[in-house]
Amino acid sequence: MAASPSASHLRDELIVKPGTRVRLSRLDPAGTHGFDKASAKPLIKHELERLATLQDRLWAEARRSVLVVLQGIDAAGKDGTIQKVMEAFNPQGCVVSAFKVPTAEELAHDFLWRVHKRVPGKGEIGIFNRSHYEDVLVVRVHGLAPKTVWSKRYAQINEFERTLAASGTTIVKFCLSIDRDEQRARLQERYDDPTKRWKFSMGDLEERARWDDYQAAFDEALTRTSTPWAPWYVIPADRNWFRNLAVASILADTITGLRPAYPRPPDLPADLVIT
Ligand code: ADP
Repeated sequence: MAASPSASHLRDELIVKPGTRVRLSRLDPAGTHGFDKASAKPLIKHELERLATLQDRLWAEARRSVLVVLQGIDAAGKDGTIQKVMEAFNPQGCVVSAFKVPTAEELAHDFLWRVHKRVPGKGEIGIFNRSHYEDVLVVRVHGLAPKTVWSKRYAQINEFERTLAASGTTIVKFCLSIDRDEQRARLQERYDDPTKRWKFSMGDLEERARWDDYQAAFDEALTRTSTPWAPWYVIPADRNWFRNLAVASILADTITGLRPAYPRPPDLPADLVIT
């Protein structure tokens, strides 16, 4: 198939339309939506250039913020996405936050406490490597909180995100989806490669053994928390180049919709020559 010259259709194709039921097992993690690796390369470059321009305007404007949420099973490519796609951004104005096992202090508060503190301020793009969604994913799969607690969190998350959106934060959420066999290959490579082994832990295998439970937890999270003010996109992520293209292009299209603009300079004299 001839490659499409633009990636603008990906947003419509990959969004989880609010109110629709998601089954990750019915989506193809190796899908490339009409692109091939060679044709994607210049498009990715183009999208990264767009992102750089958009971020510059957003930062200069300093009125709104953008929150990018990245979720996905182990080895789905969250770190790689941050590295490749976010290289477009000026580090000033871009804040990456990784959410790990909560500390004792974090656990002594409500589950959104640590998250709210990391929400980007005006002009900033915030990237969440894992997020408050862990509290309906790993917490549910491992029974770290009773069902009566985690089952209320979908509505609590929607309200939290609605508050952020109403305060000028545009939220865009990406679920990186890989195939079970692709995860096996990536974990094996992580173990085999001395430059990657530091990322490997035996715990990854325990998580992998719970694949079906995670899929069910993702299905419910995606179904119940894709909202008009904070939509999810499921990104087929078996192929890194397609993942990069899809995330970059959806993010660029989202920020374009905000029409960030350079502020009008204060009244300045005409024809100023600085000596
Ligand atoms: P990563 O895999 O993100 O590169 P780590 O290997 O340190 O980094 O894993 C972070 C771990 O923290 C993951 O297993 C994740 O499920 C866990 N985690 C994140 N948030 C929570 C939470 N709210 N409750 C329990 N575990 C969490």
